[in-house]
Order: sequence, then structure tokens, then C-alpha cells
Amino acid sequence: MSEQIIIIGSGVSGLTTALTLQLLGYETAIYTEKTITDISNKNGHPEFASLFPSASIIPHSVYSNQLEKLFKRSQYIFYELRKLAFPGITINKHYELWESEPNRPDYCNWMLNFEAVSNTEIEKLPHRPVVDKLYGWSFNCIFADWSLYLPALLHTYLQNGGTIRQQKVNRETISDLPAEIIINCSSTGSPYLFDDPSNKQLVVRGHLLHKADAPLLTNSNGEIVSYNYTPKAEIYSDSKGKAADVYCYPRKDGWILGGSRQVGTLENEEWQVSEDYYEIDGIRFPKQIIDLNSRIINTFFETELSIKNELTPSVGYRYIRNKKNGLRLESETVANKKVIHNYGHGGAGVTLSWGCALAVTSHVNNNSADENKQTLLKEIQQ
Ligand SMILES: Cc1cc2nc3c(=O)[nH]c(=O)nc-3n(C[C@H](O)[C@H](O)[C@H](O)COP(=O)(O)OP(=O)(O)OC[C@H]3O[C@@H](n4cnc5c(N)ncnc54)[C@H](O)[C@@H]3O)c2cc1C
Repeated sequence: MSEQIIIIGSGVSGLTTALTLQLLGYETAIYTEKTITDISNKNGHPEFASLFPSASIIPHSVYSNQLEKLFKRSQYIFYELRKLAFPGITINKHYELWESEPNRPDYCNWMLNFEAVSNTEIEKLPHRPVVDKLYGWSFNCIFADWSLYLPALLHTYLQNGGTIRQQKVNRETISDLPAEIIINCSSTGSPYLFDDPSNKQLVVRGHLLHKADAPLLTNSNGEIVSYNYTPKAEIYSDSKGKAADVYCYPRKDGWILGGSRQVGTLENEEWQVSEDYYEIDGIRFPKQIIDLNSRIINTFFETELSIKNELTPSVGYRYIRNKKNGLRLESETVANKKVIHNYGHGGAGVTLSWGCALAVTSHVNNNSADENKQTLLKEIQQ
């Protein structure tokens, strides 16, 4: 017997969770204020994060005490989807490089083909021409080529019998929703819909530039190369003076150049703004996204990047909630319904999408009397 479950939100979290439940045999419906298909000016909706991701499968800018488990499950499913030729999933040789010695994040242990860089071969690494010592590593990194992957996810959900209803849900109307189980994937909408125990609601704003029709960047082995590069703090830093990174992710539709990580709050939208900026189409973004990336790209890949190129800027919010355990993945009872929260993914909502969807299905299945579903889920999670 199928049971109806309502998912609030149709970003990557809502779609992935709804698809997973639908594939497990539940009848699902997504209720959403906005969908990816009805947005023409994404800069008018910076809070709808799924319009923006780059999207590397790396747990950057996210805070969770379940990170390893969630990441590894997601990574596994992305690799399986790639084997099945699901649209948009690619693998790059990805470099994370610093001019000063960094702390080594835990995720270094979870990446395939991880390798520390060696300065004896600095000419083989993306770098500023004046630099002769670098720290960091490379690994095989999955990318979800966004203009291909997200529409395919939506299509797969609809093809498997899922339904989407465009409707804003309010705090007062939750009790009227026609399902006993509600999955909350409304991201920045969440603190307005439910009581949120976090005493902070932090958002990290990010600037991106899209350069259309740019070539794939490759190394001498023919591998597609992408990078995050952090120079010394005097070259590029955040408002607290901490060294900041720029990046370039080549995709089929051109390059995605970043970045910035400007911390503000959801309520006040007060941003730490750099004084060193360029402006395109009324959007100001840190100069180094062009200047530093251009020095690296012009030297290492012998191809051009300049402010004179045709570039499309965008700016969106990564909703981290707080820096302790910002990802909210838990259930509670609201208006006599079981509500399972899945939000606060910061800069890693794509990265963790499948792991979080499986965690949600565990919460749902704890309620379900259907032994087949419980067995199937246990098999997937192993
Ligand atoms: C610049 C930038 C770069 C990024 N790069 C990466 C990356 O490389 N890798 C990565 O993994 N992640 C990246 N991210 C993060 C990623 O984009 C987000 O974590 C992810 O998109 C969050 O998805 P979501 O579905 O949880 O939320 P959202 O995409 O924000 O979707 C929320 C949904 O809820 C709906 N909603 C809200 N309130 C209501 C309501 N009251 N009623 C009904 N519906 C409602 C909205 O309409 C929307 O459909 C990046 C983000 C930014 C901004």
C-alpha cells in the first residue's frame, strides 16, 4: 500500500529526497513556492540556492557532526549514477592549493586518488607565476554539470510518478496538508515555517562568473583540471583578513569562476563587502575572481581570461545556519504530523544530497510497517 508523503521545496534537496522515496515505493508530492523552471532572473532569488551551485562534490562550507557518513553515501551514489551515464556527472582532477600551509580537512581521507602535491613539479600545478612553493593536494572530484544534472533529476522524479504542486506553505496551513509525514526541504524558508532551535541563522554569500564557450582545461595527461587556489592573505582575503580562495571549474557550457564567502545573517542581509571590486550588470564582485584566476589560467593553461571577456555574474546564498552543527537532519511532531527536517546544507547541498535523502528515508521507514521497504533501505545503506 502506498503512503503519501509531502516534501516542501523543490531545490536539489527536495528533488533528491522525493525521488528516493518515490523509488522506494512511497507516493510523494512536492509542494513548492518556486521551481527551477520558472526563474528567468536568478539574481533576483539569491536565497534559492539550487539556482547557483558550481557544483563540485566536496563538503566545503558545511557544518554537521554526521559529515563523513553523509558524504560517503552521496559520493557512492554519484559514482553509481556516473556508471549509469546519468546526465551531467563528470570527474575532474581537482587541485586544492595554498601559498601558506593549510589545515588538512577530514575530507582529504575520503577522496579517491588523493595525493599531496610536490614542489619539485610546481610547473605542473596551477599557480601564480611569482610563486615557487605551494601546499595542498589533488584528488578525483565528481562534478554535477548543473545545466544537465538538475533538469535530469527533475525529469526522473516526474517520470517515476512524482508530482509537483506550486504553492507556498505557511506555518498556519501545515496542519491542513494532506499527509501524515512532511519532509521539510525549504532551506531558508524553514525558520519562517517551523521553530528553529539554532540561535543563529548564518548565510555565506558567494559570487560566481560564468564564461560561456570556454574550452575544457586539461593537463598533460589529458585529464580535465579544476582548482581552488588560496594565495597569501595580502593578495586576497576576507573582511577578517583571512586568506580567501578563487576557483575555476570548467563545464561543458563554459567556466564557472569564483569565489567569495561573505558571511551575513538571513534576517539582516548585512554583508562584509570588499572594496576592491569590478562591476558587471550592476553586480559588484571581488576583483581577484578575475585578476588572480586570469594570472593562473593565462600562465598554466595558455588560454585567456580577462574582464573584457563576456562574463555573466551571479550571487547566491549558502545557508549554513551556524558553524557548530548547521545541517538540520532530524524529526519532530508538528500539528500532529511527523516533520523530518533536511536543511542548512551551506555550500554542500549537492554534495550531501543523496546521503541526506537516505537519512530522511530512514526516519520515514522507522514509521513504516512495510518490511520490504525497510529491508531495501538497509541494503542501499550498506
Ligand atoms: C555560489 C554558490 C556555490 C555553490 N557551490 C556548491 C558546490 O560546488 N557544491 C555543492 O554541493 N553545493 C554548492 N552550493 C550549495 C548548494 O547550492 C545548496 O546547498 C543547495 O542548492 C541547497 O538546496 P536546497 O534544496 O536545500 O535549498 P534551495 O535550493 O534553496 O531550495 C529551497 C526550496 O524551498 C522552497 N520553499 C522555501 N520556502 C517555502 C515555503 N514556505 N513553501 C513552499 N516552498 C518553499 C523554495 O521555493 C525552493 O524550491 C553553492 C551555493 C552557492 C550559493
